[in-house]
Formats: sequence, C-alpha cells, structure tokens
Amino acid sequence: MASLLYTEFENKIRPYIDLIDSMRELGLAQDLPLPTIAVIGDQSSGKSSVLEMLSEVALPRGTGIVTRCPLELKLKNAVNGSPWNGQLRYRDYSVTLNSPHQVEEEIKKAQENLAGRTGLSSELISLEVESSCAPNLTLIDLPGIIRVPIGDQPQDIGLMIKNLIKSYIKKEETIILVVIACNVDIATTEALQMAQEADPKGERTLGVLTKPDLIDYNTEQDILKIINNKMVPLQKGYMLIKCRGQHDLIGNTSLANALEKETEFFCKNIHFRPLLDTKLASFQHLSTRLTNELVIQIRKCLPGIHEKIGSKISEITKQLNKLGGAVAEDTRTRVHNLTSKILVYCEELTNLAMGDYKNEYNPEMKLHHYAREKFTEWYAKLDIARIKLNENATNLAKHHEKYSQGRELPGFTKYRVFEAIIRDQIRELFDPSLEMVNEFSAKVATVCNTLACQHFNGLPVLISEIQFKIAEVCHKMEREAEQMIRTNFQMEEMVYAPDEMYSYKLSEFQSLSQQRGTNTTGNSNADVQTMVVHLQTYYQIAIDRLIQMVPMVLRYYLLQELSAQMKVELAQLYFHCKDLDALLREDDDTAEKRRALKDNLDRLTTARNLLMNH
Ligand code: GDP
Ligand code: MG
Repeated sequence: MASLLYTEFENKIRPYIDLIDSMRELGLAQDLPLPTIAVIGDQSSGKSSVLEMLSEVALPRGTGIVTRCPLELKLKNAVNGSPWNGQLRYRDYSVTLNSPHQVEEEIKKAQENLAGRTGLSSELISLEVESSCAPNLTLIDLPGIIRVPIGDQPQDIGLMIKNLIKSYIKKEETIILVVIACNVDIATTEALQMAQEADPKGERTLGVLTKPDLIDYNTEQDILKIINNKMVPLQKGYMLIKCRGQHDLIGNTSLANALEKETEFFCKNIHFRPLLDTKLASFQHLSTRLTNELVIQIRKCLPGIHEKIGSKISEITKQLNKLGGAVAEDTRTRVHNLTSKILVYCEELTNLAMGDYKNEYNPEMKLHHYAREKFTEWYAKLDIARIKLNENATNLAKHHEKYSQGRELPGFTKYRVFEAIIRDQIRELFDPSLEMVNEFSAKVATVCNTLACQHFNGLPVLISEIQFKIAEVCHKMEREAEQMIRTNFQMEEMVYAPDEMYSYKLSEFQSLSQQRGTNTTGNSNADVQTMVVHLQTYYQIAIDRLIQMVPMVLRYYLLQELSAQMKVELAQLYFHCKDLDALLREDDDTAEKRRALKDNLDRLTTARNLLMNH
C-alpha cells in the first residue's frame, strides 16, 4: 500500500523535475533562469555533508575551498534493486560512473580542468545519480563563503565566490538552501545575510541547521527558537539535521549507517524529538520537503518560462530574418532574396535622388541638402566674380583701349574688345563649376557606398562588387556632367543674349551708372564708360544662365541618371554573375552569428515543445 502511494506521488513529481532537467540539459539556462535549489553556506557549515547525506554519494572533502565550480547534482530515484548509476558531464566531456566511489575523483578532475589547481570557475559540472536510495531532486552546490584567502588562492577569491553565489540566488526562480551550523552564532552567518539580501522577504529561502550534536550543554532551546522562526524568520522556515561528524569519518561510518545514527540521535534527544513528528528534523523529511518545494517552485515558474520562451523565439526569429533567415538558403532562394534586397536598395537610391528622406537617414546622407549647400557656395563664388568684374571693368576697358588705339576713330564701340573681355571672364567660372561636379560626385559615391554596406551587411563580396559598380557609374555620370558643362561654357564663347532681354538689362545698368555719376569710372572717356556698362550687363546675363544650367546638369546626371543607371547595373550584376555562391558568400562573422542564433532558436523551440507536451 505504502509503495503504491509512493509510486503515485512519483508519477506526479518526476515529470516536473525531468522537464526542468531536460531544459537545463538543452542549455536553456543561458537564455532564461530555471527553477532550481541552490545550496549555500559558510565554509565548514556542513554543506558537503548535507549533500552527501541527500545523495548518498561521497563528495570531495577537505580543508580550503573544496567546491570551486558550481556542481549540479541531479538525483533520481531508481526502482528498487537497480544498480547505482552515475554520469558526470562538463563542457563537452561526459563520463559514466559505476560506483559512488568514483565520484570524488572525477569531480576533482573536472574542477581542475575548469578552474585550474586553486582557481574558481562559474562553469557548471553536472552529476547525475540514479539510485534506489536517492530522492528525486536537483540541487546546485556552490562554493563555500570564505573570508580570507589562504595559500596561493587569488586575493579576491572571497569576492569572486560571493559574486558567483549571488548570480544564482538573485534569481526569483531559485530556492535558496542556506546551510548553517548550530554551533555558530546564526546572526553572523554570512550565507544567511546573503540570502536575506537576495530574498529580503525570505519567501524562497529555507534554512538547514547542522551539527545539533555539537552544541553546548543545555542550549537546545536556542536552536528551537531558530527553528520556530523566532530569531531570523523565513517563510519556508528551518530544518534540523545531523550529518556525519569527524568521528564518523575516521571511523568510516557509512552513509546509510549515518542516517540510522541520525534517527537515533533525534529520538534520544527530548528537546529535538518532537521535531520528527512536525517533520522539521531528519534527512528523511528534508529530502521529501525539498522535492516538494522544488516541484511547487517549478509549477509556479512554468507559465513565466513558457512566456519567456515565446518572446525569445520571436526576438531571435527577427534577428535571424535580418540576416536573411535561419539557414543559408539554396541559391535560388538567395537570388530571389537578393533581388528584392537590391530592389529595396535601388528604391532608396531613388529616394535619395528625389529627396524623399526616411527619418533614420543621418544628415550626411541627405544629398539634396548637400547639393543645396554646394550650390550656395558656388553662387557665392559667382557673386564674388561679378563684384570683381564691376570693380575692374574700367581697368579692363582701359587696358583694351590701349591695344586697340590707333586705327579706330574715337567713339566707336569696340565689339571685339567687348567679346574678348567677356570670354576671358566667363572662362574663369569654368574651373569652379567642374570642381563642384567632382566634389558632388565623390559625395554621391560615398553615400551610395554607405547605403550598400547597410543593405548588404554581412555579404562582403557583394558589397565590394556593388562598390565597384558605384565607382564606375559615378565616374561615368561625372564625365557626362562635365562634358555637358564644358559644352555650355563653349556655347558661352559665342556671347549671346536675346536682343530684347539685352536692351532691357542694358537700360537698367545705364541708369544705375548715371545715378552713380562719373565717380565709379573716374575721369575715363565716354568710350570706356559705355564699354563698362556693356560688360556689366552681359556678365550679369551670362551668370544668370549658368546659375540655372550648372545645378540642373548636376542634379540630372549625378542624382537622377545615376540612380537609374545603378538599377540597370545592379540588375546585370547578378544576371551576368557566373558564380552566385561566391558573390553571396557571407563573412565569417555573419555565418557564425547565424549559427549561434539558429542553435539558440532550436534550443528554445525544443524547450517549447517539451513544455507543450508536458
Ligand atoms: P562544508 O565546508 O560546508 O562543505 O562543510 P563540511 O560538510 O565539509 O563539514 C565540515 C565539518 O563539519 C566536517 O568535518 C563534517 O564532518 C562536520 N560536520 C558537518 N555536519 C555535522 C554534523 O551534523 N555533526 C557533526 N558532528 N559534524 C558535522
Ligand atoms: Mg564542502
């Protein structure tokens, strides 16, 4: 009857513990905290002894810091009569153990591999024990808290241990099992203080008092006060247990024997005996209690875990999609994806060309703004040239006068002289215009390159191919713009303006000049005076023409045509590509990132399936 009840109980709890164990095996603890029992205690408080008695496995013992890596102890109750079976794992290493006597040695080896001879590591060693005497329980044993380093231990080892412990106990999912020796002042126990810091309300802390056989004569009442939650209250309270003492160890008392001795001890002690009935003392009650607590904790945490897994999955899926999906796709899919990527890229180039900026564009990318600035700079240059001409016109006119003097009669308007001066002056505007074209073209190339890096992130070969195309197209468009501007300047050599427009402007300048009187032209003769007004008039007309023409050319070739040409070139890029796989080769970083994300996703999906099938 009793065994039937036990089996029913088993059937209810084991699946919960197994579920969390398999999640931890999957490595899910990296993604989200899993419910667990963390065992903490000051050095020599009896931590190892407690775990030994629970697991019936001898763990490494000795002076100094014996536990130097977190040890996950998975205890599984096996059917009566089945042989003891153990499995030790860490990193990629795994070893099967056939006897509890092998455990100590294997753990020592594992710690040495993970943490060196004296160091500390946060890497987990996992020990699974299947035995007919073991409870169903998973615990994590943490290094004991020490105050002063000894020997060749690192100076800050105390702090390192505390941080490691904190990383476990701060999680809401962790049940904190604080091991405290009865024969020390409970108020000064560092482990209890740490537990209180991590769990101020004492909601998930359970105290375990050891060494009741070592207390001073007649101090049982003090211990009972603690157990009755009158000293440092914890919602889960305290339990009292007796482990193997130094004597038992020397006398080679077996663990099974130690359990009998414990029962005997409590039965004989009139103060402590009632604790057996209230189930607050003995290992037997502790292990049942812990199993129950763990299952309750797991049930409490499952909905949250489910939710967290769900949101992690969607987060990772998003990240993966950014990298182009979970797997490096087959070539057809990749070409398909690439095509749409290129289209999006071209779309953005067009947007840039049209001045349709998305919010996330940084100001550096806004080409029209840049163009406007450049134009303004250039207008300023033209303006300076115009002012200079106005100031210099008299000199220029006089200078030419000197050359031409001789054949002509005074008073003849010298059209050839006028043309020569005008041509010289306009020619001077050619270089600044070309300069603007070059600068603008360089800017466009930079922006296209930046955009390509953003769009094709992780595809270095493709990026360099595209950048090559950008350079080509920009160069070509720059040449065409240059050619167009050159042609325009060549046309300007003709010196032309519609008659009506010229006359209109001329009268404007004439009246202006009359207002100023002879002051500006000094004591020059009427010829010079006339020449000056003509020069000013025509120069203004020519500059007005350039002011419209050059920016138009620039916008047309370096924005509109350029983005159209890029579309064509990019389409050809993969139509004509002989080795698409090479073109789409990922950089190592991206491949690695994708692999990591994919692993993570697999892990989470498996965990979710486990949860759903639970
Ligand atoms: P740890 O440093 O916390 O792992 O402490 P240990 O488990 O190594 O125990 C420290 C010492 O206290 C060992 O010599 C144990 O035998 C002894 N010890 C632990 N629990 C008890 C107990 O309940 N009674 C007695 N007499 N000794 C104990
Ligand atoms: Mg220990």
